[in-house]
Amino acid sequence: MATVTLTNVRKVYDQTEAVHDCSLDIADGEFVVLVGPSGCGKSTTLRMVAGLEDMTEGTISIGDRVVNDVHPKDRDIAMVFQNYALYPHMTVYQNMAFALKLRKTPKDQIERRVLEAAKMLGIEGLLKRKPRQLSGGQRQRVAVGRAIVREPKAFLFDEPLSNLDAKLRVTTRAELKSLHHRLKTTTIYVTHDQEEAMTLGDRIVVMAAGIIQQQGTPFQVYRHPANRFVASFIGTPPMNFVEGALVRADGALRFESADASVSLGVDPSHAPDVAGAVGLPTTLGLRPQAMELAKAPTPGRTITGRARVIELLGDQMDVTCEVGAGTLVARVRAEPGLKPGHTVHMAVDPERVHYFSPGEFGDSLLTRDRAAAETTA
Ligand code: ADP
Repeated sequence: MATVTLTNVRKVYDQTEAVHDCSLDIADGEFVVLVGPSGCGKSTTLRMVAGLEDMTEGTISIGDRVVNDVHPKDRDIAMVFQNYALYPHMTVYQNMAFALKLRKTPKDQIERRVLEAAKMLGIEGLLKRKPRQLSGGQRQRVAVGRAIVREPKAFLFDEPLSNLDAKLRVTTRAELKSLHHRLKTTTIYVTHDQEEAMTLGDRIVVMAAGIIQQQGTPFQVYRHPANRFVASFIGTPPMNFVEGALVRADGALRFESADASVSLGVDPSHAPDVAGAVGLPTTLGLRPQAMELAKAPTPGRTITGRARVIELLGDQMDVTCEVGAGTLVARVRAEPGLKPGHTVHMAVDPERVHYFSPGEFGDSLLTRDRAAAETTA
């Protein structure tokens, strides 16, 4: 096991800056997930750690060793890809044993490690089969098994669950997590799926346009997004955004939307952070989970709209409401009586409201709140 450290790493392909000044300290045994939309530079970052891609600038260390000039096979890491990359003409056993054989590991040791890994993954019964005789989920396990037997310093996973169906993705995800609890090998995992990132990572690193937008525990990033991009990318259904401005009236702060359909009092705990933005264009961020249905409107506390779409999820439902010129989605307790066309009042939990500077990457105004969360988590 080892730490992995990226210092001011940059990658430029022709004209594209795929990764822009990326610095990341990964602790020994930590499970870190790089997450972001397609094309944000997460695979390139992982491939630079693996040595499959040269860096334009920067330093990467694995343990105490700078590996910039170390060949991929000498970096002592194991990578699992989306397409598994198993050798089709070899059995499962041979696939798993291959890297050890190349290293001239004694035969009895190979056998012990392959059997141990196979048992851990529940594939002991498949060792004589060829990859084509396996299901997608079984192939994926063999690919992981092949990585485990090498006992590497770190595992690198590049979207390893993308080829599995939704149900299998969820069970395999849980298995990977439990495997990490047992092996405690430093892991870097790349995915575009925010739910996978939240459930797997000790820490998640949200990337966009080649830049690390925020890193922290899943809870920190969800509860205290650093900017609007992170707020919109992490969490489902996505956070609602309302354009408007903060105003001061009767000694209190309030957010007013541009079309006057939303008027909410600012929670006293947020007031010191947002006071400097009074009068400036500001974006309000509201998670669907931060609202609940109310029987009647309360000035400064509720938003009133008209239900347009109602999606029942079981105990809960997603209500898409027309509010002024826009729409908001609220995830609330299921209420069978609510129908499209009805007027709805949504009570907002003021402590769970977010405020951002304008623009897609507008910074969160709640900086003290976030700093406090970072020191306590
Ligand atoms: P992600 O893994 O987040 O989907 P990538 O790291 O694969 O993103 O790509 C980041 C950016 O670099 C994208 O704009 C992509 O088009 C570009 N890119 C990736 N690989 C190459 C390459 N071999 N040549 C040129 N551009 C590339």
